[in-house]
Amino acid sequence: MQNSSSLDKPSNIGSYIKNCTCIICNSTDLMPFLNFGDLPLAGGFILESDLNSDKLYPMTISFCRTCFEVQIQEIVPPSILFTDYRYTSSTTKTLRNHFQAYAEEMHERFLSPSSFVVEFGSNDGVLLTPFNKLNINALGVEPAKNIANIARSRGCNVINNFFNTSVAAQIKSEYEPADLILANNILAHISDMHEPIKAIKILLKPDGVFVFEVHYLLDLLETYQYDMFYHEHLLHHSLGALVNFFKLHDMEIFDVKRVPTHCGSIRAYSQIRNSGIHPLSDNVSNFLKIEKEAGLYEESTFIKFSNDVLKKKDELITLVKKLKSEGKRIAAYGASGRATIQLNFCNLTSTEVEYVIDASSERIGRYIPGIHIPIVAADILNTNPPDYLIIFAYNYLDEILRKEKVYINGGGKFIIPLPIPKII
Ligand SMILES: [Zn+2]
Repeated sequence: MQNSSSLDKPSNIGSYIKNCTCIICNSTDLMPFLNFGDLPLAGGFILESDLNSDKLYPMTISFCRTCFEVQIQEIVPPSILFTDYRYTSSTTKTLRNHFQAYAEEMHERFLSPSSFVVEFGSNDGVLLTPFNKLNINALGVEPAKNIANIARSRGCNVINNFFNTSVAAQIKSEYEPADLILANNILAHISDMHEPIKAIKILLKPDGVFVFEVHYLLDLLETYQYDMFYHEHLLHHSLGALVNFFKLHDMEIFDVKRVPTHCGSIRAYSQIRNSGIHPLSDNVSNFLKIEKEAGLYEESTFIKFSNDVLKKKDELITLVKKLKSEGKRIAAYGASGRATIQLNFCNLTSTEVEYVIDASSERIGRYIPGIHIPIVAADILNTNPPDYLIIFAYNYLDEILRKEKVYINGGGKFIIPLPIPKII
């Protein structure tokens, strides 16, 4: 692997490794297509006391011409990224309902009362909890200590660690081989994708199933979700790239479907080739056909995407500056990674956006990194409402509109930044 580390760097640039080979297939034939400049870590919402020591990291998005994987070239060490992670899955009702239905589907399709389930990247127990209610023995593996403790407080059994071959062997000897292994929104985060797959092969029963959800590259491209690119999201998968990757490890994806989480994800079902018992669904070949037609395996698609993103950025900046010049007050809704990326990429500071509202107690009282906008609780809308709220959590638009009737009835308006910046 050809790497160059960031030794001679300005003091506000954090530690990272510039990866010049494909994370999946090791090819050097990478085509950079979108350069974000220097950005903070999207999920690193900072305390007031840390405002002066905030770190930035360059971010370049590349397309692998060999295996078609889309990836970020600047890799920030996981010890910096995930040991104090502030993203909790159970905060929104939409996600809680999603994972409830997910557990029920797994139960119906793959499990018996004696089954053993392991989820890595189990976050705050949002999927472990419904398994507990179904009386299924479920174990979580979660590297962020603060998040693992939240899951434990909800009665979930969690190992506080990264999922790797030694942890898999430890679970297998202390418990038993797993009937079902799960990983949600985690396979985009791992700089060594090969390690968890090797670990899965150690822990999974020969006829067991590995099911995962991951943000879907086709949705990202179709709706211009450049705000899904951040250092924690190293990889952006098409099914085609995943099928090739699983083949390298003698595993196969036997079914797949689209799910609405995070503005468009896929749920993929895989098994060990030769010992797996599930037939190959037509869904897999249908997906591959759609991806080919959409240009997911061609570099020209990504060059066009990049040009479109730069236009979207200019449109949002122009809209915000126009409203400010008319004396309007603007705030934002949803302190997500998406908010960090859009605000920093568009260089919107507290001069333009006064505060960001969020429901999570993990984030309230902190600041959006980079541009240092304060994160506050939603009750500020009762005492100090702005004229416009930019909705960065636009994937929860319906939930927000239902919740914020008082703000709307008081004349408050919303700015939706993507796919086309507009006011509603
Ligand atoms: Zn590759």
